Amino acid sequence: MVVVKSPCEMQGIARKIHGGGKTIAVVPTMGFLHEGHLSLVDQAKKEADVVVLTLFVNPIQFGPNEDYAVYPRDQKRDEALCEARGVDYLFAPDVGDMYSPDASVKIDESSLSRHLCGAVRPGHFSGVCTVVTKLFNITMADAAVFGQKDAQQVAVVRRMVRDLNIPVRIVMAPIVREADGLAMSSRNTRLTPEGRKAALGLSAALKAAKAAYDAGERDADKARALMRATMEASGLKVDYASAVDYGTLENTATLAPGTLLAVAAYSGPVRLIDNCLL
Ligand code: AMP
Repeated sequence: MVVVKSPCEMQGIARKIHGGGKTIAVVPTMGFLHEGHLSLVDQAKKEADVVVLTLFVNPIQFGPNEDYAVYPRDQKRDEALCEARGVDYLFAPDVGDMYSPDASVKIDESSLSRHLCGAVRPGHFSGVCTVVTKLFNITMADAAVFGQKDAQQVAVVRRMVRDLNIPVRIVMAPIVREADGLAMSSRNTRLTPEGRKAALGLSAALKAAKAAYDAGERDADKARALMRATMEASGLKVDYASAVDYGTLENTATLAPGTLLAVAAYSGPVRLIDNCLL
């Protein structure tokens, strides 16, 4: 595995790979890797000849009161995990390699970004769209693998790729969970033992709503109320408990195939998200 820090060098490598007739799949991450990220690497290997994993904690997708400063980081550990999983190139730039001090271009998706996390994290998806476009341009990827864990992010990136004719195929991979149901997240490492227990409320909320749906419930308001109550009973501070159409991310009145059940909540200071696509 080769570790690359410079965007120019990464582009040079990508050009050579394409020149040799091979394809590239990229897995964008913010590092502190876990099995969820590594499952994306497995998928990426099926999508293309060469796998590039990018490791970059992107400052412009964090709000001023968010956890950029305390986001967990350990590049050496990530390098070992990537090497063991068969990543070909690890692209790990510094902030200064990615953003000029006078950078003045950003990308805005103005519809899907207004909902769910976008409603409570202004500027977040603009930061995501901007960095993802840069990573696509730097790695010249033919395919990019994202996790359903961030289902709204996948929807926004797909819209951006469609609307800007970016020549990359977006692949969505399933959510990887701990044995007790908690969706894996780098942020889980910041939970206290009590916070870790409370965090189970997110997956429990989705499970309860999905069970109600499977038993015939079609009223989206009832599902929202059930998810909120389940999370509150678990000691979480609810950010949202939503049932939306996955095509538009608008609230839906009726639960149906294609409805995204999506939750966000604070366990202590740690904000967690989870979802389930009906
Ligand atoms: P992050 O490092 O949190 O920005 O995540 C990088 C990529 O890994 C995103 O596409 C996430 O959706 C994906 N990811 C994070 N956690 C999981 C998980 N538990 N299962 C599947 N994919 C995940």
